[in-house]
Amino acid sequence: MTTYKNDNKFSFEIIKEIPGKLGRAGIIHTPHGDIHTPAFMCVGTNGQVRFVSMEELKSVNAQAMLSNGYHLRNTSYEIAENGGLAAWSGWDGPTLTDSGGFQVMSLGSGLGKVVSMDREKEVVNTDPQDRLAHVCEDGVYFHDPFTDQDDFIGPEESMQIQCRIGADIHMAYDELTSLADSYEYNVEALARTERWAIRSIEEHKKHCDDLGYHQSLYGVIQGGRWEDLRRSTSKKFAQMEFDGYGLGGAFLKESLGEILRWCCEELPKNKPRHLLGLSHPDDILIGTEMGADTFDCVAPTREARHGKLYTKYGPIAISKFADSDELIDNTCDCPTCKAGWTRGQLRALYKSQKLEDKHQYNNLTSIHNLRFIIRLTEEAREAILNGNFEEYKKEFLKNYYPNKY
Ligand SMILES: [Zn+2]
Repeated sequence: MTTYKNDNKFSFEIIKEIPGKLGRAGIIHTPHGDIHTPAFMCVGTNGQVRFVSMEELKSVNAQAMLSNGYHLRNTSYEIAENGGLAAWSGWDGPTLTDSGGFQVMSLGSGLGKVVSMDREKEVVNTDPQDRLAHVCEDGVYFHDPFTDQDDFIGPEESMQIQCRIGADIHMAYDELTSLADSYEYNVEALARTERWAIRSIEEHKKHCDDLGYHQSLYGVIQGGRWEDLRRSTSKKFAQMEFDGYGLGGAFLKESLGEILRWCCEELPKNKPRHLLGLSHPDDILIGTEMGADTFDCVAPTREARHGKLYTKYGPIAISKFADSDELIDNTCDCPTCKAGWTRGQLRALYKSQKLEDKHQYNNLTSIHNLRFIIRLTEEAREAILNGNFEEYKKEFLKNYYPNKY
């Protein structure tokens, strides 16, 4: 019989706070191990990070993996039979699943082109015929373009799927609104998200120990860009039986810090918070300062595949470096940089028409970008522990975004 870590319990410990701010360095204890925060969770949508093996994830010091309830919903029975996500995927550390709400909602706005979920705007912005998802009180009815089947996910279905997948941390089902949605629509959507939160908790309780280890549940805070909505929903969620919180929504970069502050000032200090789907270096540093503990995003690996590589002095476009014998970043400690891969060599793989060259390029550069972001969270943690986070943040942002901060 498997014995789980941390007495098969979930808890959060604050080690040190940033003076005068909401941010902190801490440890999230889960049945599959600890996460030292702030931390970046690598996105393995289907239980695997694209082009990166589990050993390679360990080699970049990844602490946790995030998978997706929507994408894994049909595989969830097989995952449960194999002992849950960690055992099934081969990733033996902590895991998190998101509810699938985001993926379902984006079908509603035309496959990723998020315009608006507002029923009235629907008519203005897109032909309702083209929409693949419709929100109602029960949940979301949608047409899956991959299987060509009609389907439905509500809070109960999302909890059942996530409990079968068996990550250590689950997300309550929520309705994501877009930047184009009105205040009135956000009020309506948020009230629905709050009712779905109560239903999520009830259903989650029934299944959270089914796989033999305890799975915890985060409530997801929405409310768009409005302070009254963000604060009121955070206050309500603070009273509910959640183990932590997801900070969700579509954010304009310049208002991210302020919106996070509204939420985190109202949320209980002793529970962890996950910023959903954002992880550019400034998102991580501003998010950390304002109280987010963990982060996830497909950007580091997606941008690597598209030729954008991260360096201390800002991102570079690899296509511009023919014949360069420079490393991607000579301060980087990732396996790619340590093995001496030059920008010129990587560009040659990037431009090659051979499939194996492209695969190798995607592998080497995904490793680099992941390590860059993970190292940023490690340095941010170190700076919090040393009491010099503000100086670290200022210096990092000045180097990375010379024209912005
Ligand atoms: Zn590197």
